[in-house]
Amino acid sequence: MGFDIKKIRADFPILKRTVRGKPLVYLDSAATSQRPRQVIDALSSFYENHNANIHRGVHALAEEAEALVEESRAKTARFIGAPKPETIVFTSNTTHSINLVAQGWGRKNLKPGDEVLITELEHHSNLVPWQRITEETGALLRYVPIEEDGTLTVEAARKAFSPKTKMFAFTAMSNSLGTVLPVKELIDLAHANGALTLVDAAQWVPHLKTDVAAWGVDFLAFSPHKMLGPTGLGVLYGKFDLLDAMDPIMSGGGMIQEVHYDRSTYAPPPHRFEAGTPNIADTAAFGAAIDYLEAVGMDAIHAHEMELTQRALEILEPDEFVTVLGPQKIEDRGGVVSFNIDDLHPHDVGQVFDSEGVAVRVGHHCCQPLMRKLGIGGTARASFYLYNSLEDVEAFARGLSKVKEFFKVGVPVKVS
Ligand code: PMP
Repeated sequence: MGFDIKKIRADFPILKRTVRGKPLVYLDSAATSQRPRQVIDALSSFYENHNANIHRGVHALAEEAEALVEESRAKTARFIGAPKPETIVFTSNTTHSINLVAQGWGRKNLKPGDEVLITELEHHSNLVPWQRITEETGALLRYVPIEEDGTLTVEAARKAFSPKTKMFAFTAMSNSLGTVLPVKELIDLAHANGALTLVDAAQWVPHLKTDVAAWGVDFLAFSPHKMLGPTGLGVLYGKFDLLDAMDPIMSGGGMIQEVHYDRSTYAPPPHRFEAGTPNIADTAAFGAAIDYLEAVGMDAIHAHEMELTQRALEILEPDEFVTVLGPQKIEDRGGVVSFNIDDLHPHDVGQVFDSEGVAVRVGHHCCQPLMRKLGIGGTARASFYLYNSLEDVEAFARGLSKVKEFFKVGVPVKVS
């Protein structure tokens, strides 16, 4: 397909709509992405042509539905460089994937005095599950500290390991500050210290090429809804032997091998972790999202996002009333820009942007401890994806001027 922004935008029906009388400028893809016609069609095609429950179905529709789900599993494995489809567990979101590991692995393997290491950058989804399982098992939760600009160094991580560290769970890219972490080095460091790794790749897989085999990562979690796919679906990649040694946290139909009145045995991964009727339609449609991203190319997508990020930073950074949070160097960033304007509340900022048709996210971005550490209540955040254009960034610049005008930022208050 190559990178043709006009053609890409034409594939996203929602980009044709207006918001508050202005063309929609969607700068909130870090929360959830928009979907191209191809994914929407795949979803309705599933319901129109193939809908049936899966698992041991012998009729044609059941076989077709199962084949579509397994095809998406195989595509997902290929997309992230996983060795085989059986290493891909479908969950309901990144949060579910991380909980599955925290409980399924943690309950079996953490003992009092053991340590789980995370970072100060984590989304609540990669923090609270570890708080809970360490409390439950008597293990200790420790944090790798970040630098002042929201970057995280391998050196800081090295100092945080101890012989008792059993798991290092960290975000590949911060959803709130845009920091991109040195993922491979951190994984190698954890392994050298005898710890397993879980990478929260919710903000990585949609935007950057992923190769779990080259990384050697033990577990990886991400959400299709942030990468053109449907909501209500999550992915957990795990090394097969680790998944095979893990207990399910949900049990019932679909995850068993044999059930007796007094005992049960479980199916091998991935089905052991997919109890009950799964999200069949969304899983089937997810395959179309992967096809779309692969046709455009992840390197081209990343290059495009960084061009937009660069332009947004050129607008924000010289403005004396704007504070840009996160890495100083663009090389340490992905396509997320968090900022505050003067002493304005981010919600007020977001509302004025919205009145201009520009959708930005505001608040703590599910990173309350990080906001507390930075001494702020929240930020306004613009995040970019393949369908955003340079015109979107110019609309963002106009929104910024509107905010300053509306709240009279920089206008001295007259005292009479
Ligand atoms: N981790 C990160 C870094 C995220 O950005 C998000 C979504 N904002 C999550 C975890 C949680 O994803 P989900 O809501 O799909 O479970």
